[in-house]
Parts: sequence; structure tokens; C-alpha cells
Amino acid sequence: VLAQTLDTYNRHAKINEDPIFHKNRFTQTISVPPYYFGIERLCVHFCCGGVRFNKNAQVLRKDGSVIEGLYVCGEASGGLHGHDRMGGVALTSAFVFGKIAGKHSISQTT
Ligand SMILES: Cc1cc2nc3c(=O)[nH]c(=O)nc-3n(C[C@H](O)[C@H](O)[C@H](O)COP(=O)(O)OP(=O)(O)OC[C@H]3O[C@@H](n4cnc5c(N)ncnc54)[C@H](O)[C@@H]3O)c2cc1C
Repeated sequence: VLAQTLDTYNRHAKINEDPIFHKNRFTQTISVPPYYFGIERLCVHFCCGGVRFNKNAQVLRKDGSVIEGLYVCGEASGGLHGHDRMGGVALTSAFVFGKIAGKHSISQTT
């Protein structure tokens, strides 16, 4: 059964079309032992390090003083999550501090 399943999969992979599950994107056939499924690539997922900032998203100097007019959020910001972060919160922090930065910068100019 396994050999038949692999044979069917490989036929579909070669033509990039699977009439059973309607998959149309294949990266490889599974044909040379030892068998691995999927080609893995390393990539940077999230960086905890970055520019120090305060609750207004203002960038801080080493001594903790504010650099007026300079804001940061998202990947460029650092220290919010400590040494590690909970999955899924990177985008939240980018959106939240992006909005805070926008609001705060406008409040400083009006
Ligand atoms: C595979 C993967 C999965 C992820 N999954 C999640 C998830 O499920 N949930 C979650 O919360 N986070 C996830 N993250 C992390 C999240 O995507 C990032 O933390 C977030 O996108 C950072 O947003 P950002 O705007 O700070 O940076 P980016 O999204 O990196 O945006 C920076 C932008 O600046 C542009 N840019 C760079 N240099 C220049 C230049 N010189 N001039 C003009 N533009 C420039 C880039 O092209 C890019 O569009 C994931 C990350 C990866 C890689």
C-alpha cells in the first residue's frame, strides 16, 4: 500500500497536478531512500533584539533619555518580549506600537 501511495504521489508531483486532493504545488518527488518529505530551509523568524524604546514608541539612548522625533516599532524595536516571545505576538507589537508612534508624533506637532 505504501509503495502504491508513493507511486501515485510521485506521478502527481511530476505533472504538478493531483486530481485526488487537488494539490497543484509540489516541491519534490519522494523517490530516493532514505525518504524525507519536504525541503527545509532556515530563515529568521523573529529577532528579540533591536532599538530600545518606551511606551510612546520613542527611541531611547543608552542612558534611557528620549531621542525626540525618532520612533520605532516591529522588528527594528527590541526588548519588548525579553529573551523570547510568545508565538503570534510579533505582528501585534508592530501594529500596536506603529499606531502609538503615529498618534504620539502627531500630538507632539500640534
Ligand atoms: C516565516 C515567518 C512567519 C511569521 N509568522 C508570524 C506569525 O504567525 N505571527 C506573528 O505575529 N509574527 C510572525 N512573524 C514575524 C512577523 O512577520 C514580523 O515580526 C513582522 O512582519 C515585522 O514587521 P515589520 O514591519 O517590523 O518588518 P517587515 O515585515 O520585515 O517589514 C519591513 C519592510 O521594509 C522593507 N524594506 C527593507 N529595507 C528597505 C529600504 N531600504 N527601503 C524601503 N523599504 C525597505 C522590506 O521590504 C519590508 O517590506 C513571522 C515571520 C516569518 C519570517
